[in-house]
Amino acid sequence: MAQRVVVIGGGGGGLGAAGGAKAIDPTADVRVYTEFEDVAYSPCGIPFVHGKEIPTFESLFLAEKQAYVDAGIEVHYETRVNSIDRANKTISVEGEGVVPYDSLVISTGFIYQDPGVPGAHLDGLYYVKNIRAAMEWDKRLDTVKKAVVVEAGPLGIEMVTALAHRGIETHVIDPHPWALGELLDPDLAQIVQDSWTELGVTMHWNTELVAFLDNGNGSVGGVSTSGGTIDCDLVVVATHKRANNSLAVAGGIAIGTTGGVVVNENMKTSDPSIWACGDVCEIPHGSASLPLQGLTGSHAYAQGKVAGYNAAGGSRAYSSVYVPWGMVAGKWMIGGAAFGEVAATALGMPYVLGVADGISRARYYPGVKKVRVKLLAEPGTLRLIGAQIIGGEGVKERADFMGLAVKMGLTLHDLANMENVYSPPIGALNEPIKVAATNGIAAAGKS
Ligand SMILES: Cc1cc2nc3c(=O)[nH]c(=O)nc-3n(C[C@H](O)[C@H](O)[C@H](O)COP(=O)(O)OP(=O)(O)OC[C@H]3O[C@@H](n4cnc5c(N)ncnc54)[C@H](O)[C@@H]3O)c2cc1C
Repeated sequence: MAQRVVVIGGGGGGLGAAGGAKAIDPTADVRVYTEFEDVAYSPCGIPFVHGKEIPTFESLFLAEKQAYVDAGIEVHYETRVNSIDRANKTISVEGEGVVPYDSLVISTGFIYQDPGVPGAHLDGLYYVKNIRAAMEWDKRLDTVKKAVVVEAGPLGIEMVTALAHRGIETHVIDPHPWALGELLDPDLAQIVQDSWTELGVTMHWNTELVAFLDNGNGSVGGVSTSGGTIDCDLVVVATHKRANNSLAVAGGIAIGTTGGVVVNENMKTSDPSIWACGDVCEIPHGSASLPLQGLTGSHAYAQGKVAGYNAAGGSRAYSSVYVPWGMVAGKWMIGGAAFGEVAATALGMPYVLGVADGISRARYYPGVKKVRVKLLAEPGTLRLIGAQIIGGEGVKERADFMGLAVKMGLTLHDLANMENVYSPPIGALNEPIKVAATNGIAAAGKS
């Protein structure tokens, strides 16, 4: 009889797992459960439809439902899994009853942290996630004059920019002193914030949400904050991503300090028949052995591939992470890898800094953009511990490279002597990474 691999979750992690299981055992009975109406769409594109950079939601769908049927993956849409019975190796499914598994993959993703303030029941609080809901919210955005975004984390940053692009009067409130306060260094954040000011965004830093306020008709009419009241027609709640761990907790599976499911390098949980992947689990950081939860869609998909492959009898490992990241923020692109100054300081990691302000193309080539690179390296060895980048283009590629450079243990000397592409339309003679490394070596007094 074919082995039964059951996957809970139809996001990047869950679908990666289903594909991974089929890759090692094409005969496996692979079944995916999702609460949503769809799989295989990119939630990452939602803010850009709201911002009108992408004309339609339809283009965010990556595959037809038939593609999964053809691949032999049975997707159960709008079907909630209620519990896991590990002793009997079954799950309880709404409308289906008890469903057995030989191996189970949990990929239930994230939930936004509950703001924990009065008024959470009001209409007009938008938690951006599901594409069908986003389509409805998009119609409503046509009627919105003024919006508040709660927290300038990664999604908040994208939504602030999107709403401003759409011509909505946008306010952002955040308890931190600047945007992306736990990750982004303040000098880079200031550049983003200046561009938000140009776009008409009003920022309220060091500001706590106190309550969502009723407009008298059961809809939100404003927010009460530690800094006063802001009236609005809509609130985007973009609080921290937390592990959607309730099934795992109730099932008695080990949970780590972040609230994420604990997995080993094979993405296996504390139960030998259960794997986990994506935002529901926590993964060690490669440099500091810190557990990290709530990474990105690309991490979720890669973890899912490993989890599903192993759940169906394979043996693959998922390495610890160095977290290259990047996004559009106001008029800029920002990104980095591993630790910036804020994180390094919080962790008590000493560092040497190398900074360069460069350009993305030859200075005479039309469309040339500024690029600032900051490199952090361990004093003494000058081994790279992280990087942050802001620019008009070319940020993603540098962030990816920086992630690999930290992972491979490259030093500022390696980067100062790197070869680089020089082609006027796509790259300048002086690569900013190389210049930043050279400056870092000089700052460390080691030429
Ligand atoms: C607006 C938005 C923008 C984003 N932008 C980016 C980006 O630019 N780059 C990037 O890399 N990532 C981005 N992401 C991805 C994201 O932040 C996550 O990292 C990614 O979605 C995690 O995938 P996942 O499979 O772990 O969980 P999710 O995608 O959250 O999927 C969870 C799945 O579990 C299902 N589920 C949960 N509980 C149950 C249950 N009890 N029964 C049945 N099914 C259940 C849900 O229906 C869903 O299918 C974005 C996400 C959003 C929402």
